[in-house]
Amino acid sequence: MNNIGFQDPDRLVSPKAVDEEEEQDLSLRPKYLKDYIGQEKLKENLSIYLKAAKMRGEPMDHLLFYGPPGLGKTTLAGVIANEMGVNMRTTSGPAIEKPGDLAALLTNLQEDDVLFIDEIHRLPRQTEEVLYSAMEDYVLDIVIGKGPSAQTIRMELPKFTLIGATTRAGALSAPLRDRFGVVLKLEPYSHEELAKIISRSAGILGVHCTEDGALALAKCSRGTPRVANRLLKRARDFAQVRGNGIIDEEIANDALHRMDIDYLGLDSLDRNFMRTIINLYGGGPVGIETLAATIGEESVTLEDVCEPYLMQLGFVSRTPKGRIVTDLAYRHLSIKNPKLDDSIYQQSFDEYKE
Ligand code: ADP
Repeated sequence: MNNIGFQDPDRLVSPKAVDEEEEQDLSLRPKYLKDYIGQEKLKENLSIYLKAAKMRGEPMDHLLFYGPPGLGKTTLAGVIANEMGVNMRTTSGPAIEKPGDLAALLTNLQEDDVLFIDEIHRLPRQTEEVLYSAMEDYVLDIVIGKGPSAQTIRMELPKFTLIGATTRAGALSAPLRDRFGVVLKLEPYSHEELAKIISRSAGILGVHCTEDGALALAKCSRGTPRVANRLLKRARDFAQVRGNGIIDEEIANDALHRMDIDYLGLDSLDRNFMRTIINLYGGGPVGIETLAATIGEESVTLEDVCEPYLMQLGFVSRTPKGRIVTDLAYRHLSIKNPKLDDSIYQQSFDEYKE
């Protein structure tokens, strides 16, 4: 059995940030809408909402961004704060344990500030309820004491904009979701957009990256700017040590090959995920928990990190009985699909290779 059996914090194609990366990323984050690449439709609407709010001299309506990790939700929240010329306070759902934590954050806001809550679907329910009146009426209802003598004190809050980000819009409770005036979905980026992001980041990092080099890295970035920036940084190492410091197509492809990332941006974990379903479970269906235990990964990692991209490529599907791999996955891994007879297999394999 080909077990990977590790929780790899350095997985290059993971869309999630690793700790030290957050700080380095700061310099790469676009600060204004004009520097924010891609998401054209979303930007167009956003710039209208921004203009309207500025004209009225009011804070923006509360916004909810949803989409997979690494697509630029945090960056976009910062862009909005900068465009509005206000401060942004950042926190995350799991960091706010008690209603008091949230109350402390809210009462410390300045007029018109942006409060950004990442992973807002992970806010404890009791805490979430505090947000309702804060979002709607800019007031905080605090209960003091217990039992019959308990009293509710109402506190006025400064007007603020709440920006929530979530990877799972469906996990948000309906009352919370309904209180956001604007709900925007971030889409995966095209290769050309990612190549632009890579070229922009290369400029900031002071690395020479040719257009072809940027495009080669972009193609393997799984539609995700965070992955694109990470591949750029690793390719820079290869260019410095093995080349003349310039990232051209050859160096980029060589770096990707050495990092075991294939031309679709799949790494060994993705391939192991599909191979396990094929070799041990006859192509599926297999439950995600069973699969996670077999591979030695956490099921959330597989669900949040591997599956979305594999499903986007059409290699894996979710069924009520569990995960299955499609014929495309067999062909990508050059494994014969036993469900197809030989002549169909040969024909489909030839088509795929073309
Ligand atoms: P999320 O909050 O969705 O996980 P982030 O906002 O943290 O994603 O973005 C991850 C990285 O990708 C950031 O460091 C940022 O530099 C880069 N990035 C994201 N979106 C864009 C974009 N549209 N243009 C340029 N860089 C981007």
